[in-house]
Amino acid sequence: MKALVMRQPGQASIESIAKPEADDGELLLKVRMVGLCGSDLNSFRGSNPLVSFPRIPGHEIAGTVTENKSGNPVLEPGTNVAVSPYSSCGKCAACRRGRSNACQFNQTLGVQRDGALTEYITVPATRVYPAKLGLKELCLVEPLTVGFHAVARGRVTPDDVVAVFGCGGVGLGAVAAASFQGAKTIAIDIDNDKLGVAAKAGAVHTINARQESVPERLAEITNGLGPDVVVEAIGSPETFRSAIEVVAFTGRVVYIGYAKQPVAYETRLFVQKELDIMGSRNAMPEDFCRVIQMLEHQRFPVDDAITRIITMEQTPDILRAWQENPAAFTKIVVAVD
Ligand SMILES: [Zn+2]
Ligand SMILES: [Zn+2]
Repeated sequence: MKALVMRQPGQASIESIAKPEADDGELLLKVRMVGLCGSDLNSFRGSNPLVSFPRIPGHEIAGTVTENKSGNPVLEPGTNVAVSPYSSCGKCAACRRGRSNACQFNQTLGVQRDGALTEYITVPATRVYPAKLGLKELCLVEPLTVGFHAVARGRVTPDDVVAVFGCGGVGLGAVAAASFQGAKTIAIDIDNDKLGVAAKAGAVHTINARQESVPERLAEITNGLGPDVVVEAIGSPETFRSAIEVVAFTGRVVYIGYAKQPVAYETRLFVQKELDIMGSRNAMPEDFCRVIQMLEHQRFPVDDAITRIITMEQTPDILRAWQENPAAFTKIVVAVD
């Protein structure tokens, strides 16, 4: 069967590999669509230290069950599913606390182990989520869960005002999650197109950080109190600091952005405001269920979030074009069959 294989940084081609066989407790899935995100681009560039080569990428997966060796009658052949690409060891401190999303030894499909840009994969039946959704929706489930988990970490309620810094794939998920939770959600970005999609995902206010003062607008919207929850989904030192500065006294700050360099803080504000400051990583099974619920309610602008659908054969060229011009693409989805 065909697979997209990255042999070394900057190089990807379609190769022929053996079709896998499902063990007991597993499913054989026909891969239907796979979404690509910034982390796939980093893998292709060789800038993700967790990726070794050769590697088959692909962790945002829509598939159809073709063989069910789990005994679970819900997962009969023909069922369309989204897939959780994570693994957990069951033994580390995070797993012992029931927080397997942050497993110390997690191996994500397409990162530490081969992923889904191929015709068939096998997965444990416990890692799939059947849903009454189209294929495009199904491959948006995983990327949206990351923002949903951040909002769960921030204990967002309908009484909260939530500000989200960054409306890329992850931030957009946080905007959708906070809005779906009933919170008053404010989306912040420097790109008006992304802010437009965020508004369709439920943001009631949008702030273009290049054209307006973010602290002033936030103060205006919240009568000077500041947002109850701030989600940082960019990873720059400025927004890491800004989150602490703009959040309300006794507010919650959730970081999902990965900072590429150390960040200097005025730590006085941590104490003075008595803040809850949290990291958020990957997602839990309940986040997958919540995203599916939102998508089934048609509360997300799926066609605005996916900017391009390509074939597996086009993927090597598109990866090269994306590497040369990262801003040219936002969400690419590969139609595998
Ligand atoms: Zn992704
Ligand atoms: Zn673990």
